[in-house]
Amino acid sequence: MNDVAQHIQEILDRIEKACIASNRSKDSVRLLLATKTVPPERIKLALETGQTLIAENKVQELKEKYEALQSTPHENHFIGHLQTNKVKDILKYEVHCVQSLDRIDLAEKLHQRLSAEGRSIDVLLQVNTSNEESKYGVHPDQALDLAKAVAALPSLHIKGLMTIGLLSADAVQVRQCFQLLKKVQQEIAAAAIPGVEMKELSMGMSGDMDIAIEEGATIVRVGTAIFGKRPTPDSFYWNENN
Ligand SMILES: *Cc1c(COP(=O)(O)O)cnc(C)c1O
Repeated sequence: MNDVAQHIQEILDRIEKACIASNRSKDSVRLLLATKTVPPERIKLALETGQTLIAENKVQELKEKYEALQSTPHENHFIGHLQTNKVKDILKYEVHCVQSLDRIDLAEKLHQRLSAEGRSIDVLLQVNTSNEESKYGVHPDQALDLAKAVAALPSLHIKGLMTIGLLSADAVQVRQCFQLLKKVQQEIAAAAIPGVEMKELSMGMSGDMDIAIEEGATIVRVGTAIFGKRPTPDSFYWNENN
């Protein structure tokens, strides 16, 4: 077995264990492969194990890998900061869900292009639950208003929420981020906005997926634990200045 396939098996075992610990069915959590910096050959090793859900952070990488992955069936999500001037590009590459929708001007731009093409996509609202300036996401207090505004754009189907937990070894603080996302989910669900679903909670990564599952994650986004350490520092993907 290659290393990618082996690591995927380990992650699936971890998911199952966390599900058992929190009385959940293991089928209630989907594994998303975070493939930033990973070459298509290695992504294919993962897809060949039966995994289907992958996501990039940068439109440039989506574009570079698009052709090489086209013949292997999969579902593409987008999990990075999306600039409004890249909206046109991202829609070229069959992205099924933008998990990082965090502001109304981006939503309007997406809607404008999608409706011109007669298409629609799924979105998750990204919420900043860690209060760190280097991370994107709508402020938890403003998530409900954003949901209402996005709901008025018929080409965007809200399916739930996404967050990046605090990058910290303090499990208590990390857990609080996931609990906050759950709270925002309940708040938006209670508002019963027509057309808005609050089923998905995309939270948890290599280091904190177990806690996220205990707190209700339906999608965990795992990169390093499957593909190995990345050559590029995460600040390249998460900072405002790039
Ligand atoms: C890279 C990335 C992940 C995966 O992080 P790992 O620590 O490598 O598992 C998850 N979510 C987002 C938004 C990412 O950019």
